[in-house]
Amino acid sequence: MNNLIACHGCDLLVDVGSLEDDSRAYCPRCGHFLTRYQSDGMSRVLAYSISAIILLLVASSFPFLSFKSAGLESVMTLYEAPGSLARYGMPALGLIVATFTIIVPSLILLLMVMISLPLIFGWRVPWLHNAARTIFALQSWSMAEVFIIGVLVSLVKIMSLATVVLGISFWAYGAFSIVFIMALVTLDRFQCWQLIDQLEARE
Ligand SMILES: [Zn+2]
Repeated sequence: MNNLIACHGCDLLVDVGSLEDDSRAYCPRCGHFLTRYQSDGMSRVLAYSISAIILLLVASSFPFLSFKSAGLESVMTLYEAPGSLARYGMPALGLIVATFTIIVPSLILLLMVMISLPLIFGWRVPWLHNAARTIFALQSWSMAEVFIIGVLVSLVKIMSLATVVLGISFWAYGAFSIVFIMALVTLDRFQCWQLIDQLEARE
């Protein structure tokens, strides 16, 4: 098995050998983080991914925010946020918000389930390479946590104009963004490709 890994910080080729369970490897030259080995890493990825999918489903099923002002109340769901941007003449922004806060995270989660299940149970499936490549390419384009911080900042402004009630969906989406980040952090790029290699080398 090829245990060489190229450091992202200084391009040094490092032999990480066989790491002990739950240990990390750092570059001996620049100290950059290289990889973390966890024997149950894929099971963790699967658990976080399924939890995140459930939280996202909860976040889409209940009111996100409701505003009360001068006797009028309006309730907004998660999916209405991009839609209302489009209604106020910003369709491109609405599409960008929907893409980076709902569509890309959902796609990444689906792909993570699609690679973690075969890697845990040793199923040989044809999509492992493409799915793993897509996950690592999309990772930096998911902005669930940026969205929740953006909502919090705008709430501070709105609170002086209207009474804002945070719905179940708001809390679910907040929890979703945390669990989703945990899933991404747990999926170690090097270890994931090692497992794919091991599965494919098996007869
Ligand atoms: Zn380095």
